[in-house]
Amino acid sequence: LHNAVIKSDKIEVVSQLAASVSHEVRNPLTVTRGFLQMLKDPSIEEEKRLYYLNTAIDELDRAETIIKDYLTFAKPQSGIASSISVKNEIEKALELIVPYANHFSVSIKKDLIEGMYISGEASKFHQCILNIIKNGIEAMPNGGDLVISCSTTETKQATISIKDTGCGMSQQQIARLGEPYLSTKAEKGTGLGMMVVYNIINEMNGSIEVKSKLEHGTIFKIDLPLYNTEKREI
Ligand code: ADP
Ligand code: MG
Repeated sequence: LHNAVIKSDKIEVVSQLAASVSHEVRNPLTVTRGFLQMLKDPSIEEEKRLYYLNTAIDELDRAETIIKDYLTFAKPQSGIASSISVKNEIEKALELIVPYANHFSVSIKKDLIEGMYISGEASKFHQCILNIIKNGIEAMPNGGDLVISCSTTETKQATISIKDTGCGMSQQQIARLGEPYLSTKAEKGTGLGMMVVYNIINEMNGSIEVKSKLEHGTIFKIDLPLYNTEKREI
């Protein structure tokens, strides 16, 4: 009986991963398709043609990276932790998400700290930030503000906060965050983004605090241990 339980758990994990990969890969594929469609126009200038082509290639690369991130995630012991620049990694995530934010008339403001390092795998941290920002944007379909900021404390923690002025969540919704397949977005959501977030932050020895008010907005506060520079010198 015990074995049977373990087996079905494994099957569930595999199908969750398959669902999240297809969910996350849909965006870059849609963007690529859009650029290829525009390339059909024969009157297009050479400069624009190159730009469209390069963007399509970049988006395909991004799709591949996302797939890799999920596959890395499936093997918890495979990753090698290194120092991650919080500012750089958040900026990379923002670069990817800006077109999506623009589409929903969401303005993104950032207040990041130079030289703030945490320990872990950059791609996983990146994924985690991306998933939270994406949810923030999706909570504001008619526009709003998303603010991402950083701070440090004397307890050697890095705090990253992501605030939106969106639809918010009820206490019951907050309590269930991170459960697989919990989504209020019908066919547009899979309810796997937050599960990935909680797993990654947990693995990085961090914690997440959620504050939300219905029709007002949500703040996600992530605490992570700062990278130990003394260790690096040994
Ligand atoms: P998905 O985005 O595919 O629905 P997630 O796991 O990313 O799945 O999120 C689960 C659910 O949590 C969302 O469907 C939404 O109801 C809620 N949620 C997450 N982030 C926010 C947010 N910033 N504002 C409001 N609701 C949110
Ligand atoms: Mg999501």
